[in-house]
Amino acid sequence: MKRVSDCVFCKIVNKELPADVVYEDEQILAFRDIKPLAPVHVLVIPKRHIESLQATQPSDDQLLGALLGVARQVAKEHNLTGYRVATNIGKDGGQVVNHLHLHVIGGKPLSDLPALG
Ligand code: 5GP
Ligand code: ZN
Repeated sequence: MKRVSDCVFCKIVNKELPADVVYEDEQILAFRDIKPLAPVHVLVIPKRHIESLQATQPSDDQLLGALLGVARQVAKEHNLTGYRVATNIGKDGGQVVNHLHLHVIGGKPLSDLPALG
């Protein structure tokens, strides 16, 4: 799998760092966020290193759809009645880990939850 040596999520993909994995297939991994903002906080990532949504191309649209599909499945498996799917893009977008990821957050009312950052 293509990887960037200092990328924490690539290390998780390559099993060099532990993670609480909730879903895995050939191109996607989902695992629990180390600092959850809610009872359910899962990160859904492509195994291939892509910096952010902004670094994707139309040829990645199948992958982007698949990432959303995994987010939907994670929510279903956790019986979430309402939840949020978000992705931060770039420093000004609050992105800290520069490997594309969807946050799937739920398990409590989110109306009082501040923006991800
Ligand atoms: P961002 O701000 O880039 O959208 O979100 C990065 C997320 O990755 C944060 O919610 C942070 O808690 C999570 N995170 C950072 N490092 C690790 C790690 O080593 N393991 C896990 N499971 N989550 C991490
Ligand atoms: Zn990476």
